[in-house]
Amino acid sequence: MSFFDTLSGLSREQLRMALYSTTAAQVEAAIEGEQGNLDHLLAMLSPAAEEYLEPMAQRAAALTRQRFGHNIGLYLPLYLSNLCANECDYCGFTMSNKLKRKVLSHDELAAEMAVIKPQGFDSILLVSGEHETKVGIDYFADILPLVKAEFSHVAMEVQPLSSEHYGILVEKGLDAVMLYQETYDPETYRRHHLRGNKQDYGYRLESPERIAPAGVDKIGLGVLLGLDDWRMDALLMGYHLDYLERRFWRSRYSISLPRLRPCVGGITPKVQLTDKGLVQLICAFRLFNEQLEISLSTRETPSLRDNLLGLGITQMSAGSRTEPGGYVNPAAQLDQFEISDERSAAEVASVLRSRGFTPVWKDWEAGWIGTN
Ligand code: SF4
Repeated sequence: MSFFDTLSGLSREQLRMALYSTTAAQVEAAIEGEQGNLDHLLAMLSPAAEEYLEPMAQRAAALTRQRFGHNIGLYLPLYLSNLCANECDYCGFTMSNKLKRKVLSHDELAAEMAVIKPQGFDSILLVSGEHETKVGIDYFADILPLVKAEFSHVAMEVQPLSSEHYGILVEKGLDAVMLYQETYDPETYRRHHLRGNKQDYGYRLESPERIAPAGVDKIGLGVLLGLDDWRMDALLMGYHLDYLERRFWRSRYSISLPRLRPCVGGITPKVQLTDKGLVQLICAFRLFNEQLEISLSTRETPSLRDNLLGLGITQMSAGSRTEPGGYVNPAAQLDQFEISDERSAAEVASVLRSRGFTPVWKDWEAGWIGTN
């Protein structure tokens, strides 16, 4: 049974009622209870759990320290292209936005890497808009060996591919795939995805089931917080994670919790997730799953990012540009979304050290698991 079928069998209305009628006793039981329990996750995501942020944060910090020590992995997104054949109303790359579009050539890619590498990064996230013909499997297979020659850990955040194509990319050095559902509500999904292949909610939802069998080591899930009720979206992402971990137990998993940010011609959030809400989310997922990697992007402000350290975050980007060619030639009008934390990698690493954390530039070598 696919996750699409599993999700179709859930009563969203019942889950919603349970979320909004959770009692204090249920929250207390969840905080002290065993991990991996979806009822407990629901209780910790509920409005009732807002009164329990302090004990949740203390337990989340202890679990994170126990499992990850004081280490924070640093990575950088490298935008390959802003070409996109989809219309998503929350994104600066959406097809109808009048932007200068580009796809990095080999030389441009090499120039970007030459700026990034000396900063210390050994983990890279390749990002592109979704354009099957010009930035598809052939392009990815062509450039991956060049990137792998420079970085030990290579992740991708691009359009969903077939299992066969993921397999080809694993052979070329791909370690991780980030594929965010944006929202688990089909109606909200339909309203925000107006043209292109991304309109296919089911195909996107089942993508991790094509990624894992292809041998990709790590799979990243995520929702764009603000498109719909964040409590429901986070809860259903928890169901998704639970489904995948049971079925594909060899894979590692991460989640990303981006809040909707302003972009060129974009929309404002329907549902505001406050800073307090973001803390609740991070703690709830850490208490749900102590192994889970949780990443925080430069969409958040420096002070918030610094204060969230230790609660559950295990990965951060730093010094990011969100346009193709942006490390060599910063050009704000091509950005996918606005960045709040403009600090350089060195500045972020220094803050990490001053707060007792160890910035980790490299924690991965594909040969360790014999994939390459
Ligand atoms: S969110 Fe992705 S698919 Fe949608 S417009 Fe932006 S780059 Fe394209």
